[in-house]
Amino acid sequence: MAEECTHDCGSCSADCSSRQGGGIEKAMPHYMSNVKKVIAVVSGKGGVGKSLVTSLMAVNAQRRGFKAAVLDADITGPSIPKIFGINERPINTEDALFPCESRNGTKIMSINLLMENPEDPVVWRGPVIAGAVTQFWTDVAWGDVDYMFVDMPPGTGDVPLTVFQSLPVDGIIVVSSPQSLVSLVVKKALNMANMMNIPIIGLIENMSYIKCPDCGKEIKLFGDSHIEDTAEEFGLDILAKIPIDPKTASLCDEGMIEDIAQDIIPAVDKLFN
Ligand code: ADP
Repeated sequence: MAEECTHDCGSCSADCSSRQGGGIEKAMPHYMSNVKKVIAVVSGKGGVGKSLVTSLMAVNAQRRGFKAAVLDADITGPSIPKIFGINERPINTEDALFPCESRNGTKIMSINLLMENPEDPVVWRGPVIAGAVTQFWTDVAWGDVDYMFVDMPPGTGDVPLTVFQSLPVDGIIVVSSPQSLVSLVVKKALNMANMMNIPIIGLIENMSYIKCPDCGKEIKLFGDSHIEDTAEEFGLDILAKIPIDPKTASLCDEGMIEDIAQDIIPAVDKLFN
């Protein structure tokens, strides 16, 4: 039995002799897909800015000259098409589903692009939702992609488990906000990634502060952050701290995220080197 075995073959990735049901097979990508790196963006809790960070990472990759894509795995709360201002529907042939493209060429697939009415709720049970996410990998012809960012649903449920087990995830970026409640659930997400041997690229704190438009003073709206403690506890890098900025919120609302000022985008050089 491998040393790191957790005795739960459903969530443990240790390749040990007592594994039941054989190893966990990665899902095969569509034959028209050539995705070089898959980076999942996770958060413990909803509303901390995970979709914003996913979008900023794709804009970052695209501005650096890479071919970027976003797989929106947040099936019950999909916000990626709106943030990129995509209104058309994807082309669907017998052979493949083709992703939509943003104005600057980022490829996007989201359940909202497939809904008759984007305001309709997706009322599916966990395994069906997880199946849809797997299909976004197996049935979508992504073409050549250097960096695919997966916008994960918050928490540690069926979809994160499926993504970690079925997709070739190269690493995760964990998004947090300064409230201590958030740092508690972030630790659950970090522990899940560690249990499943998924490399953690680092932490990004969103909504860290707001800059006074008159004097430039940085005001910590949610009080002092706990991210340094979490980073130290898990031996991780803090990749960036993003301020609250009404301009950022309106770019998301208007579907114009690709127009964001360069200094708001976390550099995350270690990912792109
Ligand atoms: P999550 O994916 O974690 O649920 P979102 O990225 O959808 O969170 O963000 C939730 C809301 O907060 C969105 O309306 C978004 O535009 C806004 N928001 C997130 N981060 C910021 C920020 N740094 N400044 C201003 N608004 C933000």
